[in-house]
Parts: sequence; C-alpha cells; structure tokens
Amino acid sequence: MDYQLSESQELLRESVRKVMQRIATPEYLRQLDEDQAYPERLYDAFIEMGLYRMPFPEEYGGLGGNVFDIVITCEEIGRYSYDLFATYSGTAFLGLGICKNGSEDQKKYWLPRIFSGQAKMSLSMSEPDAGSDIGAMRTSAVREGDEWIINGHKIWSTGAGATNNVINLYARTDPSAVARNAFSLFLVEGDRPGVTLKKINMLGRRCIGTYEIFFDNVRVPNSHLVGDVNKGWRCMMSSLELERVAGTAAYCGNAQGIVDLALQYAKDRKQFGRSIGSNQSIAHMLADMQTKTAAAKALNWRAAQLVSENRPAMREVSMAKLFASENLVETAGLGMQIFGANGYSMDYDMQRYYRDARSATIAGGTSQILRSTIARSMGLADR
Ligand SMILES: Cc1cc2nc3c(=O)[nH]c(=O)nc-3n(C[C@H](O)[C@H](O)[C@H](O)COP(=O)(O)OP(=O)(O)OC[C@H]3O[C@@H](n4cnc5c(N)ncnc54)[C@H](O)[C@@H]3O)c2cc1C
Repeated sequence: MDYQLSESQELLRESVRKVMQRIATPEYLRQLDEDQAYPERLYDAFIEMGLYRMPFPEEYGGLGGNVFDIVITCEEIGRYSYDLFATYSGTAFLGLGICKNGSEDQKKYWLPRIFSGQAKMSLSMSEPDAGSDIGAMRTSAVREGDEWIINGHKIWSTGAGATNNVINLYARTDPSAVARNAFSLFLVEGDRPGVTLKKINMLGRRCIGTYEIFFDNVRVPNSHLVGDVNKGWRCMMSSLELERVAGTAAYCGNAQGIVDLALQYAKDRKQFGRSIGSNQSIAHMLADMQTKTAAAKALNWRAAQLVSENRPAMREVSMAKLFASENLVETAGLGMQIFGANGYSMDYDMQRYYRDARSATIAGGTSQILRSTIARSMGLADR
C-alpha cells in the first residue's frame, strides 16, 4: 500500500507543525497543565488557519479534507499533548456528526459557528453507572410541546467547561426499548438553565480536562434534536471509525513526541563519562519504542485507508487503537525510565506525557472492550 503524501498534504503537515512549534512550547504546555486551563491561544490559531473547516465538505463552507488530511493533522497536534488533540477533535468530529446526521437547518446554523469559533462541542455519553456499558444510560429527555426536558447525570465529558460549549448529549427517549432504539442525540448549550458543570480533578489530561454534568429540568427546543427520535445509536456509530482513526493518530503522534524527547535526553545526559544512550540497554529501549510506534502508525494508516474507501473497518480501527494506546502507555513508562529521577520531577515534561498517556487504554473504549470487538470479528462469541 502506497502512503505517499500529496504536495498539499505535506503543506498541511508543515503548517500544523509550525503552529504547534510556535504556540505549544514547553512553557505554554506546563502552564496549561498547572492552571488546568483551556488552550485559548492555540484554539484561536486553529480557527484562524481554518483547521476546523478542513474535514467538512466544501458545500457547507469546509475545505473538503479527506481521512489522511485528518490523520496527518491529528498526528501533529497529538505529538505535543493528547489534550490539545482533544481540543481539536471534540469540536471537529462532533461537528462532522451534525453534518452527517443533522437537518439542513442545523447544518446551516451550527457549522458556521464552529468554523468561526462561536461554538465548541463536547460529548456526553458516559454516566456514573454507564461506562463501557453505554446501553445502561439513564439520563432522560421527555417531550413537552415543542420542547424536551432533560434530567440526569453525565460524567467524563472532555472539554465541556469551555466557553461557548455545546454538549452533544445522548439521552434516553424511550424508557423501555433496547439500547439501539432507546436514545436520541441533543445539542445542549452549556449555559442553559439547569445545567451544572464540575471539573474533575484528574491525574493527567488536565488542560481541557473532563467534567461531571448535572441536568435538572433542562429545556431545549425540538430543533436541538439531531437525527430522528430514538435513533441516537445510529448517530453514535456513524462516525465512530473515523473518530477512532483520528484518536489513534494522536496516540501515535504522542508516542513519537515521547521518543523524540527521550532520545534527546539519552544523547545529552552523561553518566560514567559518556552519554546514557551509548549503553546498549538504553539504546535498545529507544529502538523498541521507535519500532512499535512505527508499527502502530502503520496499523492506523491501514485502518485509515479502509475508512477512506468506505469499506468495513471496525476490526482494523479497533486493532489500531488497541495497539497504539498500549504502545503509548508502554513508551511513556520507558521514557520515564530513561529520564531517571528527572522524569519523576515536575520540572521536566516527561511526567506530563506519562500522566496523560495513562488514560489512553481507558478513554474511547477500553483495551478489554476492544479485544472483545476484535475477537467477535474473528467469529468468537466473546462475552
Ligand atoms: C480522559 C478521559 C476522557 C473521557 N472523555 C469522555 C467524553 O468526552 N465523553 C464521554 O462520554 N466519556 C468520556 N470518557 C469516559 C470513557 O469513555 C469511559 O471511561 C470508558 O468508556 C470506560 O468506562 P468506565 O471508565 O466507566 O469503566 P468501566 O466500564 O466501569 O470498566 C472498568 C474496567 O472493567 C473492564 N470491563 C468492563 N466491562 C467489561 C467487559 N464486558 N469485558 C471485559 N472487561 C470489562 C474495563 O475494560 C475496565 O478495565 C473519558 C474517560 C477518560 C479517562
């Protein structure tokens, strides 16, 4: 398979790389992590360079980017921080969901707002008692005239506390149906009366972070229902493969960021009168880190190819996410080892990579659930 990038894709990679180098400096990232603050300056730069427009069809004001444009972009952003990738991906991919599943009126209303920076998007599926078992969601929406009244409790919603955020909320609209026919997707502005947000104090990913959200008789107009009533499952599944390919691209980029940081340190740090990287044990660690990161990327580009051809890809995207997320956790652990005590110090950046990486095998589908998906695709009745 030929993954030769086109000239415009090389240009895209270069321009994302440049903006990340300029803004996402170690000092900037350290400050965001310390303050648990939203990366406003980077978000503004993404808006200015048209990055949110990139994956959308031209007829809606987008730039008509393809799956590989998305992969390249996410690898480059993820290299610096997975949380910065989440800043991009939440709004971009939930917007794409509206483009796929929404009405013409919804597209005309929401997409220009996403492109201009007037609306951000976050996803709320998980609940305290509904994690891997999404079908156990209890948050409800009940129709009253031309409105829906929402009650319930969501958790782990990435980026929900950002200004101008719109929560993409999955709520039960049929209390008795099976999961596939029980949920609907609603757009709920974060400042609607009855919405309360609480930032969760997490080990890593502390920049845009995740939020617990309480819905107490929150009213939204029927125009905020996306797709048909009780057909939320279809919306959820409609862009899952693309989202996983993008997320995996960011895991690969993030792992490469760790390899680069650890490699430089191994060259610079001297013990016993020579660089620590001249010891075979350290050199082989770095060789393994680079090899597995390249393998993760190859798996993901294979999955991206299938997605771009609209071919069934759930097994391939699951394998890629599984391998890349586990590689990221492993690579971050080895990066810490190479840094010695400095890795354990908050004055060096390896600890942030290590803390952020740990969520990779949990968020967006745990390793255990992914293995079950892959096993089922092999004809095994995995329970
Ligand atoms: C950083 C971060 C960001 C997130 N962002 C979002 C977001 O934006 N929106 C959102 O809705 N959610 C988000 N989540 C939630 C995420 O999707 C869930 O954490 C994930 O689905 C797992 O659910 P859980 O944490 O409740 O674990 P549980 O489902 O309780 O699982 C706990 C453990 O049991 C295992 N397990 C569970 N069921 C099975 C099974 N059938 N077979 C084998 N093993 C099983 C799991 O693999 C895991 O190891 C985020 C989570 C994190 C950590």
